[in-house]
Amino acid sequence: MRSLLDLSYICHFHTLPGALYSPVQPKGLHNPKLVVSSEACGHLIGLDVETLKEADFLNVISGRALLSPWQPIAMKYTGHQFGQYNPELGDGRGLLLAQVIKDNAIWDLHLKGAGLTPYSRQGDGRAVLRSSIREFLASEAMAALNIPTSRALCIVDSDETVFREQPETGAMIMRVSKSHIRFGHFEFCSFSNQAELLKTLCNFVIDQHYPDLNQHENPYEEFYSRTVEATAKLMAQWQSVGFAHGVMNTDNMSILGDTFDYGPFAFLDDYEPNFVCNHSDHQGRYAFNQQPIIAHWNLSVLAQALLPLIDKDLLIGHLDAFPKHFSTHFYSIMAKKLGLMGEGERHQNTIDTTLKMLEACKLDYSYFFRALSDIQLDNGHTQLRNHCLDISAFDQWYDIYTQALVANGQSEGTNTTAERKARMNLVNPKYILRNYLAQNAIEAAQNGDYSKVNELHEVLKKPFDEQPEFEEYAALPPDWSKKIEISCSS
Ligand code: AMP
Ligand code: MG
Repeated sequence: MRSLLDLSYICHFHTLPGALYSPVQPKGLHNPKLVVSSEACGHLIGLDVETLKEADFLNVISGRALLSPWQPIAMKYTGHQFGQYNPELGDGRGLLLAQVIKDNAIWDLHLKGAGLTPYSRQGDGRAVLRSSIREFLASEAMAALNIPTSRALCIVDSDETVFREQPETGAMIMRVSKSHIRFGHFEFCSFSNQAELLKTLCNFVIDQHYPDLNQHENPYEEFYSRTVEATAKLMAQWQSVGFAHGVMNTDNMSILGDTFDYGPFAFLDDYEPNFVCNHSDHQGRYAFNQQPIIAHWNLSVLAQALLPLIDKDLLIGHLDAFPKHFSTHFYSIMAKKLGLMGEGERHQNTIDTTLKMLEACKLDYSYFFRALSDIQLDNGHTQLRNHCLDISAFDQWYDIYTQALVANGQSEGTNTTAERKARMNLVNPKYILRNYLAQNAIEAAQNGDYSKVNELHEVLKKPFDEQPEFEEYAALPPDWSKKIEISCSS
């Protein structure tokens, strides 16, 4: 059984200039209790998560004790929050403890909720159990959906009270990620006129994540281009599963194009393109259908930060490629979701028409795509039709869709239907982290019962599989779920 003591640690980020971080000791939680851990995340770093239950390790993952190779630091970064530059940001409650080397990969270990840092501003340095559970479940669910994301190793609960809109319980989450470097790190270096620091940071990211670029004629330019493409692909993946991040500030954008900093996120229930999951986002800046546009805007801020290193026209050229990258990835994924074969953009009309119909009919996004694989070309589709608000919009769409399947060579008999269903079920999840499911698990955990969090985690590990014993987790959301309000506070 490999425990935290058996891993290979380095403190690699610490080799960067001290302007990029401050050493900080964690402030441990009182009476720590392990809520949940991720075997899959443990596997990435070579850790047997069963060992986390031992009292000594419980002390370590709750910030009460440190392992000797660890050197906790709070990172300094800045960022644009809701469009406004904020130079005061940094890890206000999370600490990078060390990095783990496993199979030639380097993983950051980051403890979120570990107490005050020089960048805490008015905050208390803590995280609450509610938001820790949301981040844990979402990270591991996204990974199981094959979407790039930071990971979550475990959560510890405590006896400590933390004040948000109401008193809540303090908790910590151990985050594991290929990197904690954000667009905001580059903004900090550049907008505080530290051009050498900016260059050093770029070299660090290239060496660690894109070593092949060191042979490239202009590694910085190519690095930016890869960030544009990775971010465009991520946005296509978010849109395809109906994931709304909620706070796409530039300090929450990972430089590698991973989903990062889970806050007031939500997976869509009914398909509402302009859905705003964060109740504090009054303008709808981060509405679901704005995400690709905002990502593009955020990349323009990153381009601005990289101006000391890369020619402006070259940056603009790569930035302008974003919409094309996005649409190539988006239509490719969506065509697969609809069971259509061949190049995705060829199916653009069918895909766009489907999304318009979903909006008009107020159909549940994930339920629709999962049920769609049951279509039999010759006998209509009553199961979905019965859920529609606008039957005529559904019937019109149905003709267009079935014609597209026929034109795509998918009309011949039961074999084709079964093959299409199998193919579609690999990309249309049956189990999604709906807000109400998270809410039920959180309420049980707040009452000391962690079994619901563990069960939901179990279900979300295999989102594409039929899991008859967990059928209730695939149910449409109850009416009360529409009233759940998710704010920024976490
Ligand atoms: P977020 O909206 O969670 O990405 O946080 C924005 C900034 O506020 C980051 O720099 C966080 O580290 C910081 N922050 C958020 N919550 C707290 C807290 N409770 N205590 C200290 N800093 C916080
Ligand atoms: Mg953040």
